[in-house]
Parts: sequence; C-alpha cells; structure tokens
Amino acid sequence: MFGDIFADIFGGGGRPRRGSDLRYLLDLDLEEAVFGCDKTIEVPGIVACDGCKGSGSADGRSKTCPTCRGQGRVRMQNGIFSVQQACPQCRGSGRVVETPCAQCHGEGHVERTRRLEVRIPAGVDSGDRIRLSGQGEAGPAGLPAGDLYVEVRVREHAIFQRDGDDLHCEVPVRIAQAALGAEIAVPTLDGEVSLSVPPETQSGQAIRMRGRGVRSVRSGRAGDLICRIVVETPVQLTREQRELLEQLDASMCDDDAAQHSPRAHSFLDGVKSFWSRVTS
Ligand SMILES: [Zn+2]
Ligand SMILES: [Zn+2]
Repeated sequence: MFGDIFADIFGGGGRPRRGSDLRYLLDLDLEEAVFGCDKTIEVPGIVACDGCKGSGSADGRSKTCPTCRGQGRVRMQNGIFSVQQACPQCRGSGRVVETPCAQCHGEGHVERTRRLEVRIPAGVDSGDRIRLSGQGEAGPAGLPAGDLYVEVRVREHAIFQRDGDDLHCEVPVRIAQAALGAEIAVPTLDGEVSLSVPPETQSGQAIRMRGRGVRSVRSGRAGDLICRIVVETPVQLTREQRELLEQLDASMCDDDAAQHSPRAHSFLDGVKSFWSRVTS
C-alpha cells in the first residue's frame, strides 16, 4: 500500500483562487532513493469532470439563479437584523446551470483515483518533495488545479543506515583479523569492495571509505561509507581451538601484559586504585 494522502489547509480566509495542494507520502527502499526510479502512484482526489469540463452544465448553458435573481447575495432575517450573505444555490455567482451534467450532478468535479507516473531523481532522502504541477485537487468552478507534492520516506535498510549522504554499516571481523590486519569484502550500493582493516584495529573503530556513500541529489557529490569494525568473540570452539586460545592468552598474561592489552591493563589498574580509595 502506498502512503496516505491529505489536503493541505489553505492559510487565512478568502476564496481560494485554485484547487488545494495535495501531499502524497511515498515509501522507497534505500536503493530506489539512491539510484532513482520511476514509480506509479495512485492518488485519490477531486478532479474536474470530463463530461462538462468542470462547468457542471450538461449543455454549457446557464441561467439566472432563481433564488437570488442573479444578485449573488440573499437577505436573511436574523432576529430584528437583516443580513446579506452569499446565495447558497449559486454560491454567489448569480447563475446556475440549466441542465446539470449527469456525470457530476452539476458539481463540475468528481472524486477519482488517478494513476500518476513519478520520476524519482537519484539521491533523494526522507523529507525531500517532488512537485507535480497542476496534479493537486481540481479548482472550484473552472479555476486551475493545485499542485501535488510527493514526499519521500526512505525505509530502513538491513545493512546500511543513512545519515545525509553518508552510509554507515557494521563490519564484523575475527580477532586475528583485527589484530593482524586483513582485507575484508564489504558490501556497498555498487557491489562488493575490499576494505583494508589495519593491524591492531579495535572493536568499534570506524573506517571511512570515501565516495562510497550516496551521490547527493543537490550537489552531485558522493558521501562516504563508514564501516564500524566489530570484533567478534569466537564461539563454539573445538577442543583444539580452546587449547590454542588458552596458550595464546597465557602468553599475553606475562610481564608484558600491559603491552598487548593496554586498555584491559589500564582498566584493571583503575579498578585497583578505585578499591584502594574505597577501602582506605
Ligand atoms: Zn460534469
Ligand atoms: Zn443565487
């Protein structure tokens, strides 16, 4: 189902000089927003009647309004006051159609769902609006139609989070890859590329791939892809793997422990000094 739709409210008083503008919320996948696409949307609304071309008359002829005798205004008695107001039958025009159009019952407009083709330019983001001139609601009695604003809303993506023209993604790596450095295949919107993870990369570290983000619909410049490295703790170890890991760990718990795991070491120091302060 496409997004919902509602008419904008005219500001201030006075008679509208054209039909209402409409807003249409269009949900797009990230790929559709990034690369652009053609969409068919179904817009419910009020359009000028085909049968009478908006005049409301079956034969194009009109006659003087019998209610106001062509004055466009009528006097209403309100207590002791006599008040003038617009004629309810002709809505102030002073004329009514002789034979009402059968299709619209003389209204000049009908409710109809229209199918429209919308070209979405590449690089749009949530909140961007595409204006379709004259595709809003039909104007009253032959006045021009309003505009239709198609407002883009980009859906969440399974891999990428969008931040303006930048894309963010998490890249899980193994402990050894993070420690020794590695070439990792990462997805981009243009396909897979190789990401160089430098040696001694910590979990949470971000690596920026320039120009691998979204090409801006306004500036034409491409944003970046920001890969956040997540070091994955190995699970379901075999007996052999467990022994190797224990050996490795033992080798790092000697006198040089601070050198191999500086954060863990300074954390432990902090904990020690915390307890000594608490207990002293
Ligand atoms: Zn009609
Ligand atoms: Zn009248």
